[in-house]
Amino acid sequence: MKAIAVFPGKANSVHLADLPKPSVDEIPNGRGVLVKVLRVGVDGTDKEINAAEYGAVPSGSNFLVLGHESLGQVEEVGPKVWEVQPGDYVVATVRRPGSSIYDLIGTNDMTTDDTYFERGINLRHGFLTEYYVDDVEYIAKVPPSLREVGVLLEPTTVVEKGIHQAYEIQRRLRVWRPRRAAVLGAGTIGLLATLVLRLRGLDVTVFGLERKPFLNSELIEALGARYESTRDVPILDGAQKFGPFDVMFEATGYSPVVFESMQALGKNGVLVLSSVTGGGREVQVPADKINVQFVLGNKVMVGTVNANREYFEMGARDLAHAETLYPGWLRRLLTHPVKGLENYAELFHNLTMAKGAIKVYCEVADL
Ligand code: BGC
Ligand code: ZN
Repeated sequence: MKAIAVFPGKANSVHLADLPKPSVDEIPNGRGVLVKVLRVGVDGTDKEINAAEYGAVPSGSNFLVLGHESLGQVEEVGPKVWEVQPGDYVVATVRRPGSSIYDLIGTNDMTTDDTYFERGINLRHGFLTEYYVDDVEYIAKVPPSLREVGVLLEPTTVVEKGIHQAYEIQRRLRVWRPRRAAVLGAGTIGLLATLVLRLRGLDVTVFGLERKPFLNSELIEALGARYESTRDVPILDGAQKFGPFDVMFEATGYSPVVFESMQALGKNGVLVLSSVTGGGREVQVPADKINVQFVLGNKVMVGTVNANREYFEMGARDLAHAETLYPGWLRRLLTHPVKGLENYAELFHNLTMAKGAIKVYCEVADL
C-alpha cells in the first residue's frame, strides 16, 4: 500500500513509502474501523513538517506518513461497532489520547501532557495512504451529500473549537449578544472562520494582506462579510470603522498581529488565537496601553488547538448548513486537486508554490 511520508528532521524528505494494508482487528475490543481513503488535504503544518520544523515518527518507524485532513469511506467494521457501517463517509479526528484527565474524558485536544499524539503530525502515522484503521471513537460520519467537500471538515473543526470555546467563555457575561466580529487572515482557516461566524449571524470584517479583488475576497463577500486589506485599512482603523469587535479570530500565522488585535478588541470582547508560530520572532509592543485596556475592558484572549470529535460533529452540521445557505461556496475552496499518491511532488509543489491556492488536496481514490 502506497503512502506519502517524510523523514522528520530531514528537510524536503517527502517521498513515497510502502506500508502493509491494516486490518480491523488491530484495534482492541472489536471497535476497529477500516477506512478507504478518498481525499486528503494538506496545509501549513504539512509544509512545516516537510521543512523539518515540526513532526515526529511513531515508535518503531523511521518515517512518518503525512496527512491529517482526511475523507474516507468505511470498508469494514469490527464486531462491536454500531456507529458506522460499510459505505459510510467518514473523517477521522487527529489527536489521540495521552494520560491527562482531559484525555480521559475524550477531550484530547485539551491535553496537559507534554507529549501529544497526532495522526500525520506527531508520533502517529497519518492518512495520506490507501487505507487506515482506527477506533470508531475517533471517527466522525459525514452525510453522503457532503462527500464532495468533506475533506474541508478537519480544518473546519479547528475553527469550530475556537468559536465554541469563545462562546463558552463568554457565558461569564450572562448576557452576551455578539454583533460584530473580525477575522485576521483570509487563508483557509480565515475563510472557514468567516463562514462559521456568518452562520451565527454576526457582521464580519476580514483583514488580509492582499488588496481585493481576488478569489478569497470574493468568497468573503459572497458570505455577506467585508474584506479589508491592511495595506489600506490597518486593523486599528478597521476597528474604529467597523467595530467594536465582540469576537476576533486570529489566523494569519504572523504573531505580531496578535498584539494589534488585542488593541482592536471591544470591551468584554474575546480574542481567539489559532496560529501555530514555530519561529522566534520578537516585537516591541505598547505594553501599558494593551494591559490597561484589557483590564478596564474586561477582555479575554484564548488560545485554541486541535479539536475533539464533538467539534467534528458540529463542523459536519455547519458544512451542511453552509451548503443550504451558500450553495456551492465550499466547493470553491477546493482549488488545487492532485490525483494519486504517486504525485506527491506535485502536491507539495502546489502547497508551497501555487498562487491563489486555497485548499491543495490529494485525490487518493475516486469519490
Ligand atoms: C492541525 C491540528 C493540530 C495542529 C497542531 C494543525 O494543522 O489541523 O489538528 O492539532 O496542527 O499540531
Ligand atoms: Zn491542519
